[in-house]
Amino acid sequence: MANNSKPIYVTQPYLPPLEEFVPYLEQIWEGKVLTNGGPFHQQLEAALCAYLGVKHISLFSNGTIALVTALQALRITGEVITTPYSFVATAHSLLWNGIKPVFVDIDPVTLNLDPAKIEAAITPQTTAIMPVHCYGNPCDIDAIQRIADNYNLKVIYDAAHAFGVELVSGSVLNHGDLSVLSFHATKVFNTFEGGAIICPDDKIKLRIDRLKNFGFVDEVTVVAPGINGKMSEINAAFGLLQLQHIDQALERRKAIDTRYRQALQHVPGIRCLQRAGQERANYSYFPILVGSEYPLSRDGLYQKLKDAGIYSRRYFYPLITEFPMYRGLPSADRDNLPVASAVAQQVLCLPIYPGLDEENLTRIIDLLAGVAR
Ligand SMILES: *Cc1c(COP(=O)(O)O)cnc(C)c1O
Repeated sequence: MANNSKPIYVTQPYLPPLEEFVPYLEQIWEGKVLTNGGPFHQQLEAALCAYLGVKHISLFSNGTIALVTALQALRITGEVITTPYSFVATAHSLLWNGIKPVFVDIDPVTLNLDPAKIEAAITPQTTAIMPVHCYGNPCDIDAIQRIADNYNLKVIYDAAHAFGVELVSGSVLNHGDLSVLSFHATKVFNTFEGGAIICPDDKIKLRIDRLKNFGFVDEVTVVAPGINGKMSEINAAFGLLQLQHIDQALERRKAIDTRYRQALQHVPGIRCLQRAGQERANYSYFPILVGSEYPLSRDGLYQKLKDAGIYSRRYFYPLITEFPMYRGLPSADRDNLPVASAVAQQVLCLPIYPGLDEENLTRIIDLLAGVAR
């Protein structure tokens, strides 16, 4: 009986063998530096710049504070164009800065902000665009940059899903003015909690580093109303250890992704999201769209999986624009967001994580295909 098996969640954090972490802890205990840009913090910044192929990175305590700080760093005000099809933190970071989010619909193939619909949403108050590389699939970066250049707008990517994603030209994180990562437990690369801002500019990097430490320049000088967004030494040390395992973890994710695609490609009513234009993917999520040809509705399938102990996620449902703090905005109207509204009713993210074994993967696939047989 499937119900006797252990529950399978949509994700499970990757944790290296505990004994490998102990030497890092011993170093911290010996040095007694716990935070404030200590040795592990510095090492992780250098290691991530090299691994990701980016110029500068500033580590943060989490991705949301990094988003809030990124907007502060570029002094963004007024209105910012963004997507309704994301985790709430994307839009919340705008509200925390007193910025008005303006929602624009998504592309039906990539589920990323649709560049063709951005221009119509620009007003004299617009100062920036905040797109999301949803599920790690790159946005149309060239089209977005062209619009930004034409209208003199900044671009801040919420790249929380895009750790390690590469285009033919290199890291996707090298596009826009800033990119923001999350190292939350549920993400591809985790430091328990954590985040980062990627930036190509020396001066902006300095400003970000001051902003995440109360605005301090030195012991007696404060130049901005900064916040405490620093990553602690214990998280940074853990990140260094994770980095040694990340390639292996991504390999396992890739194998699961391939199995799902092969098994589901002929199941009527199930559409797997394409991975176009990527030199290297990170397989961070496995979203499917449940169409009308499938015998069950999306919610029906969600429930059937749940009854079998398989906890998929309706990610992203509800849309950000359905939450009360956004619902009143004109751009949050469903008529403005037909694609996102339809996708939110169809999407289901299936379990994918390095520790998902063949037996359980087969169980999930058999259930999905079995319903349609
Ligand atoms: C996870 C996530 C965030 C927030 O990151 P935290 O580290 O959890 O604060 C922001 N945006 C998106 C798209 C995310 O998935």
